Amino acid sequence: MVQLLWCRISFVGGDIRSEKGCSWVTGSMAKFKDRLVKFMYGRYGVDHLSRLIIIIAICLLAVTIFWYNTVVYIIGVILVFYVYFRTFSKNISKRYAENQAYLKLRYKVIGKFNNWKARCKDAKTHKIYRCPSCSQKIRVPKGKGKISIKCPKCRIEFIKKT
Ligand SMILES: [Zn+2]
Repeated sequence: MVQLLWCRISFVGGDIRSEKGCSWVTGSMAKFKDRLVKFMYGRYGVDHLSRLIIIIAICLLAVTIFWYNTVVYIIGVILVFYVYFRTFSKNISKRYAENQAYLKLRYKVIGKFNNWKARCKDAKTHKIYRCPSCSQKIRVPKGKGKISIKCPKCRIEFIKKT
């Protein structure tokens, strides 16, 4: 039963699972897989944060091929070892919390970026004015000449050129 469980431990994003089961599959590849799965039992594995770090590490190491810099190289190597450390870590709850924090931040950054993109697109067709009395933001279409804008909050009217 335990061995069957070992077969189902996911590693490097996929499921390592032999077709017939683990213990009775012969061949060195299957044995290696089996050993790897046993080794990974109770260990954290690869997550989104590790994938990001490894991409950064590869970029840094690739840069040093063309432009050698000891500091960049050392940072790249440290990041690679850090990913190893996270992958083989047995403190699963802590690694999980780190990944969740990263995903939360990524979600926020992507949200802000999309917001900014939408605002850039909107700036071509609309203009935002602030009400002179209550400073409420009011969005009006561009290219209409002089128009009277009525604040929806305090009902004050003011003239602006769009
Ligand atoms: Zn107002």
